[in-house]
Amino acid sequence: MSFKLLILGSNSSLPAYGRHHTSQWLTIGRSHFMIDCGEGTQYQLLKYKTPVAKLNRVFISHLHGDHYLGLMGIIYSLHLSGRTSELTIYGPRGLDEIITTQLKYSGSTINYPLTFVEVSAESKTLIYENEELTVHAFPLLHRIPCTGFLFAEKPKPRRIKGALIPKDFPIENFEKLKKGEDITDADGKVIFANKHLTLPPKHARSYAFCSDTGWFPTISEYFHSIDLIYHETTFLEEKEKWARQTFHSTTKDAGLIAKQVKAKQLLIGHFSARYKSIEPFVEETKQYFKNSMAAEEGKIFTIKD
Ligand SMILES: [Zn+2]
Ligand SMILES: [Zn+2]
Repeated sequence: MSFKLLILGSNSSLPAYGRHHTSQWLTIGRSHFMIDCGEGTQYQLLKYKTPVAKLNRVFISHLHGDHYLGLMGIIYSLHLSGRTSELTIYGPRGLDEIITTQLKYSGSTINYPLTFVEVSAESKTLIYENEELTVHAFPLLHRIPCTGFLFAEKPKPRRIKGALIPKDFPIENFEKLKKGEDITDADGKVIFANKHLTLPPKHARSYAFCSDTGWFPTISEYFHSIDLIYHETTFLEEKEKWARQTFHSTTKDAGLIAKQVKAKQLLIGHFSARYKSIEPFVEETKQYFKNSMAAEEGKIFTIKD
């Protein structure tokens, strides 16, 4: 199953130097998720040939314009392109009112079911799950209510060694093997030991999106041992004081958080428009967390199982 993240936008409040407002496209198997949707996102979707019609769910971290102003355009374009399947949008209180007000005063109706799910920024909450994965929202430290999102595969079954399975093996035994159980006879005697017929499960992968936030070590209470964490780095370390005042983070903050949550890889983004090059961001972050990368637009980050 695929688990890959496409970066659509990586800048903070002002677009600059070819960098756009925050947006990401996460594909986990058949699920296609959009995370934040800054202005201009639909042009980025076209540019990177993203399968927009397959979009299932949108997750909006907070109501600063650089994270959601592109949403109305995408909602309406999906309508014009004949979408009929439901679209579910997870976001803070007020987002549904903003969207429905725009539709109301433009006299527009959307020909597919549009569902809003209000996300609380008070505590870690399960907001969506299917057979394969869970999505949790968790609070961040920002000027207005803001949440991060944790996307995690559910634990996977043990893998059956097909070549070792006898021909007349009852079908119900497959489920037992996948769960790690031995196959026994009516007296409870083990006929087939699980360890001989199965391999350990594949790794359950995870991605945490930490949107706009100040220095917030509480994040480590929400998840740990993560495959990939995205953490904003609006400023270089020299602007730490300003970062604290504006509830944003520096390279050092992101590096320390990645270390604290035992991440395998760190992705940084939400760069301030004051910086032309983002290379210094990666260099600085690496001083605190070696496996750091910049969320460059158009790049795809794949998590292997
Ligand atoms: Zn922002
Ligand atoms: Zn913000």
